[in-house]
Amino acid sequence: MRQILLLGATGSIGQQVINEVREYPKDLKLVGIAGQRQVMALAVLAREHNVPFVAISRHVSAEESALFPSSCQIFSEERALEDLVEAVDCDMVVVATSGIAALAATWRAIRKGKIIALASKEILVVAGEWVMAEAQKYGGVILPLDSEHNAIFQCFGARLSVNPSSLRQVWLTASGGPFLRYSREAMASVTPKQALKHPIWNMGPKISIDSATLANKGLELIEAKYLFHLQPEQIGVVIHPQSYVHSMVEWVDGSIIAQLSTPSMRFPIHYCLFYPERIPSSLKTLSFREAIQMNFEVPDEVKFPCLRLARESLSRGNAGPVVFNASNEVAVEAFLSSQLNFFNIPVVIEKTMDAMLPMDTSSLEYALETDRLARERAGREITLLLR
Ligand code: MG
Repeated sequence: MRQILLLGATGSIGQQVINEVREYPKDLKLVGIAGQRQVMALAVLAREHNVPFVAISRHVSAEESALFPSSCQIFSEERALEDLVEAVDCDMVVVATSGIAALAATWRAIRKGKIIALASKEILVVAGEWVMAEAQKYGGVILPLDSEHNAIFQCFGARLSVNPSSLRQVWLTASGGPFLRYSREAMASVTPKQALKHPIWNMGPKISIDSATLANKGLELIEAKYLFHLQPEQIGVVIHPQSYVHSMVEWVDGSIIAQLSTPSMRFPIHYCLFYPERIPSSLKTLSFREAIQMNFEVPDEVKFPCLRLARESLSRGNAGPVVFNASNEVAVEAFLSSQLNFFNIPVVIEKTMDAMLPMDTSSLEYALETDRLARERAGREITLLLR
């Protein structure tokens, strides 16, 4: 029986993890769940799975506490996630919170030497250097839950690194998002509603917008660099609208290994929850008894500047990715609240990057301070643009 601590239980990935737990009640057990705000949803889950520990990163009233089973211990307020990780004995921590909300909690889990299934790519973008070094030091295992990185992990033979002299490069696939066939002009006037409607994946709002601008692929490029210890030029991006191939590894002899399945996050989730075993699943995968079409295209970095900006951020000091991520997040929020047009998301990122980079950070604390400064700066760039 694998004991699982789930951070981000009410989000899109969290819910799919719970579906997996429901399907394998003899093998998987939730020993702790955490969420940001949705107390009611967490209480329902705590009752359904008889979860002994819950964390909510805000104040919880007495009436709200009463919604939970009486045996359930509740951690609340700002440090709730960290306290939960510290208190609970588990085999695996699944990190599926949005942004870097679970950075400190992930840090704790690493120091406890846990297996960490990591879906929150921003944690690696902002703190990749330190997170990976810390995992190495404390014997913590980082399992990539992001589908592309999970694919590379599988192609590497269930490892994060391979002999560098045998590897030529990796290829991250991208669906291209809802605006792949839009002209540059048409993209200027798209609404949040259009951008939220992804052709393949059903995801939360922030990552849906990131998929529409290809900033998500940019973040994944940075994530891949830290996770697999790659040089930026060893990470290629290819548009593959059907999203059957989740990523590929190209070896020095020219052989290319790919991982394929139908597009569902349940595949990487299933893989991680049972790692290192392979357990039968009921998931419907590709059937080669029917004809299947797959296309691959070169991404248009003029139409999707976020991809170029992410790559550039890697060559402008190790604070570059922090600034890219923070300014993107602020710009996406402004777009979702209809303040900023779609076209201006990369403009805000580029202006913030130009104002702050190159810059180097020497510690995690400094990286977090840079994150805060970049958010402020991006906010100011938006105000200037709207004048
Ligand atoms: Mg992904």
